[in-house]
Amino acid sequence: MSQDQQPSYESPRDEEGRKGRERTGGDERRRDEERRKKNAARKAARERQVRRQMMFIGGGTALVLLIIILVAFFLKKPSGDAREDVVADQTVEVSTETGATEETGAAEVEDGMNTVDPVAIPEETTPEMTAETTSDRPADLPDIDITSWQYILANADHPIGDYTPETKLVENDQYVDYRIYDAITSFIADCRAAGNSVYLSSAYRSYDTQDYLFKRKVEQYGSEEEAAKIVLPPGTSEHQTGLSADITEVYYEVKNRELENTDMYKWMAAHCQEYGFIVRYPDGKEDITDIIYEPWHFRYVGVEAATYIMEHDLTLEEFLAYYE
Ligand SMILES: [Zn+2]
Repeated sequence: MSQDQQPSYESPRDEEGRKGRERTGGDERRRDEERRKKNAARKAARERQVRRQMMFIGGGTALVLLIIILVAFFLKKPSGDAREDVVADQTVEVSTETGATEETGAAEVEDGMNTVDPVAIPEETTPEMTAETTSDRPADLPDIDITSWQYILANADHPIGDYTPETKLVENDQYVDYRIYDAITSFIADCRAAGNSVYLSSAYRSYDTQDYLFKRKVEQYGSEEEAAKIVLPPGTSEHQTGLSADITEVYYEVKNRELENTDMYKWMAAHCQEYGFIVRYPDGKEDITDIIYEPWHFRYVGVEAATYIMEHDLTLEEFLAYYE
């Protein structure tokens, strides 16, 4: 008998019992397994539910955010438009009060539209900025390039040295800057056509001519100071620009203030700006021009500037000062 065949000490009853226990144990395992499966299923279901809830919450949140954004957008839009109107109105008012240019006003409106914060409307800064850029410049001042040749200023404070323009003969051995030839010939021709006699007395005078005239007066009066009261020193006479013309009447060639009573002068003073000319040394402006009233001396500045100067009774000095 081998060890293997040793009889079991267990009784059949015991065996049955063991088997029963084993059977009982198998049932428990199955139940445990079922319980585990159920738990797993429940857990999975719970997780699915949580996921669904999360998705719902997520979707809901996104929806709420979308609504908030839409509401905010529609609330913000009209207020933005209103703000632009306010800024535009302010700018228009400011422009009127301070005499600002239209360009400046438009620039301010553009700035206003770019403003993000409605609180940041520059109620105080806008007028200051506009006032700074356009302090005492009239709103209707011509938009011109003041450095252009026709605005050259020649006086005792602004000597032009030996400035020499390219000239062209008009008549009576008188020359002008070739660029005003058409203007002056039309001016004189139309005045004559209106029934007046016109005498082109003196137009372009070179530095050397002015120098000669001045030196002659110095000899005559004994000093440059006394001579300068009658003839301007070379480099300071407007005749040297080629843009000036002394015009008298054929029957009244004397250059004095009585010339203003002639029909010729009346016509020329009324129409000169249409040809780009001004009465350069007006009556009552001697303290500004430092030159006596000269109803015979016309100066070319172009139609735009001439129209403005004659309509506002200005001197060229006053007009140019607006652009400084
Ligand atoms: Zn003159």
